[in-house]
Amino acid sequence: MSAKLQAIRGMEDVLPDASPLWEKFEGACREVFEQYGYVNMRTPIVEPTALFVRGLGEVTDIVEKEMYVFDDRNGESLALRPEATAGIVRAAIEHNLLYNGPMRVWTAGPIFRYERPQKGRYRQFHQFDVEALGFEGPDVDAEQMVMLARLWKSLGIPRVELQVNSIGDPADRKAHREKLVAYLGKHEAGLDEDSRRRLRTNPLRILDSKNPAMQELIEGAPRLADHLGDASAAHFESLKELLERSGLAYQVNHRLVRGLDYYNRTVFEFVSPDIGAQSTIAGGGRYDALFEQLGGKPTTACGFGMGIERVLLVLAAAGVKARNEPDAFVVHAGEAAELMAWKVGERLRDAGLAVVLGAGGSFKSQMKKADASGARYAVILGEDEAASDRITLKPLRGAGEQRTLALNEAIEHIR
Ligand code: ATP
Ligand code: MG
Repeated sequence: MSAKLQAIRGMEDVLPDASPLWEKFEGACREVFEQYGYVNMRTPIVEPTALFVRGLGEVTDIVEKEMYVFDDRNGESLALRPEATAGIVRAAIEHNLLYNGPMRVWTAGPIFRYERPQKGRYRQFHQFDVEALGFEGPDVDAEQMVMLARLWKSLGIPRVELQVNSIGDPADRKAHREKLVAYLGKHEAGLDEDSRRRLRTNPLRILDSKNPAMQELIEGAPRLADHLGDASAAHFESLKELLERSGLAYQVNHRLVRGLDYYNRTVFEFVSPDIGAQSTIAGGGRYDALFEQLGGKPTTACGFGMGIERVLLVLAAAGVKARNEPDAFVVHAGEAAELMAWKVGERLRDAGLAVVLGAGGSFKSQMKKADASGARYAVILGEDEAASDRITLKPLRGAGEQRTLALNEAIEHIR
């Protein structure tokens, strides 16, 4: 006997019942992003492993332990993308995308990370990824946050908190790093294994640790905000002013450093109090050095990733529901009516309506299916209708009488 075939742990099916909420959310994103001039692009799910090692930094959770890496048949090391920005930047460099100036782009699709699966954390998950390429900010940084706030509002998502921080420029971080290492070194006994290792390689990442046992220690660590140089301090001040002027509430979170090495200056997260421990629904920031790091010309940029599954958890918690319902469900009885049903279905679709044909069976069972489909109307076809070439319309939602009409009249009626 062979083992039962199942989806891989941490990789979930999106079944038809759940799908309409995905589509509703995806539609809202497209609409709002378009309103701000973002255009869609798509990059491969598989990239050379080196792209992520160079882009994200060797000493990051993702590169050290979360990437799905494999050799293809030629022995080239490939990785399933663990985030989308590096691929976008690679493509922008490869195709000289910014030849005519800065661009706002977005992409969406699956992301892969070998993490411990739990609520809000999966091994295949999905992101919207939004990038403003070639913009110095801070106006575009603020604009992305304002755009996300508009998205939450359009979806009826209440209570999302915006946290911002500045992690400065590399020179600022160097000054901070010395003090941070001294502080953490003094408290080395309180560090977990990962952090002890990172003390020498990438101490800033320690501030990003989710380990509850280390939170107090992290709270007392020297703040990057106290080490910002003039330029990044001015950038941060101006960002906060822009947010205030646009009436967007925010909190400065000094511990917010984000998990990837490519960020500088602005970092931000939107956090929901309604979905438990995995509470960040979108996070991003500025990455002014990434283009150069990946072999491109110096190009300033700012972007964010948004976890679709997590936003859907927020939507579910807020009681937002979605369902794809046809305009009409065609019920038919008898041979002549069956032929007619096919024709009527196509005519209604010509008129732009969504129509589901009953698969036959008793009249009663078809009417039950019509009801369950959520259709607004049942189109009933029997011997009489087939003989007179008229159709009977029965409203399934709300009041209204059953009527027998010519097809054109019926179309007007359904519309
Ligand atoms: P977290 O701190 O929760 O691990 P992150 O900082 O690693 O998040 P990013 O790399 O910034 O996450 O990705 C952007 C967004 O993608 C997150 O804010 C979150 O909404 C979502 N996300 C990240 N990892 C996962 C995952 N394993 N499963 C589902 N969604 C995820
Ligand atoms: Mg993570």
